[in-house]
Amino acid sequence: MNDINGSRLSRRLTQLGQIGFMPGEGTTRLPYTPAYDEGRTYVQRCMEQAGLQTSIDPVGNLVGELPGKGKTICIGSHIDTVPGGGIYDGTYGVLAGIECVQRLREMGYQNRHPIQVVAFTEEEGNVIGGTFGSKAFTGGEIDGAMRPNLVLHGLTMEEVNACRRDLTQYQCYLELHIEQGGLLEAEGAQIGLAGGIVGIVRYRMTVSGCANHAGSTPMHLRDDALVSACRIITKLMDRARAASPDMVCTVGTLQVFPGAVNVIPGKVEFIVELRNPTMEPMDQVIASVLEEHADLTGEAYIRQEPTQCSPKLMELSERLCRGRGIHFLNMFSGAGHDLMNWGQTVPSMLLFIPSKDGISHSIREYSAPEDLYRGAQLLMEMVQALDQEEGDL
Ligand SMILES: [Zn+2]
Repeated sequence: MNDINGSRLSRRLTQLGQIGFMPGEGTTRLPYTPAYDEGRTYVQRCMEQAGLQTSIDPVGNLVGELPGKGKTICIGSHIDTVPGGGIYDGTYGVLAGIECVQRLREMGYQNRHPIQVVAFTEEEGNVIGGTFGSKAFTGGEIDGAMRPNLVLHGLTMEEVNACRRDLTQYQCYLELHIEQGGLLEAEGAQIGLAGGIVGIVRYRMTVSGCANHAGSTPMHLRDDALVSACRIITKLMDRARAASPDMVCTVGTLQVFPGAVNVIPGKVEFIVELRNPTMEPMDQVIASVLEEHADLTGEAYIRQEPTQCSPKLMELSERLCRGRGIHFLNMFSGAGHDLMNWGQTVPSMLLFIPSKDGISHSIREYSAPEDLYRGAQLLMEMVQALDQEEGDL
């Protein structure tokens, strides 16, 4: 019996999910709150039960380590939630990591490499900024928008810098997560193997027209910025669709100026966001639309390169899935994860399990026990296989 202990994993997920839970609302564990600290203490206890040596760094990342020789195998995810979140997002990856280690030790397995399980703080970005904990851990850039929030929570850059680990000492980084989106369910797949995480571009767009009286200006003499913006937005959507089936395009905010019922809109501002596994097609979509509309100007304010998972780890995951008769799907992650901060420097792999109706960040988030166990089992087998590797990946 070399299988993970499923009921223990389920019990821990439920118990951790109760910390910060409000009936009808969901689970809220924002970092630097008593609920978060209580949740982290619970996870620390689980780590200790699994035989991991624990420590908490200055920004609040919880690290559990099983000593060994050579480069470290790291399993990570997060235990913070959005306000009114579910019990699986993030926590599943951390608790499954702990379960792997605990089961390996129960089986009498002697690990060669050091194995770390890390519960990163503030992945969701509601307090300091998205994936803050893993950024500090990996030495990622703490951008300007995060700095005032650091001060607000009594954190200094010295403390942030003190969290930085030497990434050359890591063999690999593994993250197991619930899928956010319903692709696996729709395809009837049991495991998703993510080739990476999409790149993101966001542009602040301004459409200029001419504000005028809504009653006395005939239709043929108008320069209506909103009418033009509607055409532009439709065109952006069409171009994104034509560019790649993987590309998504969203306009989620729009402001009309001066914004009065009896004034023809003189200016419209909106933000367009594109996500895709590669940057170039997104740049082309934006450039082509900007070129065709003289009344449109755009300013890029977010440009996040895609993260690629390790082809070798991808291969290993595929081989293990085939060996177990697991129906897997090769995909790309449209949502960000802590792995983004690892993928550039450390061979990394992102695994998904199905999430019912593709729902996350909600009290309705649900993954079936058999999916939870299958994912954790696969993770454990990956860790064993990687632990046998001598050289670099
Ligand atoms: Zn997450």
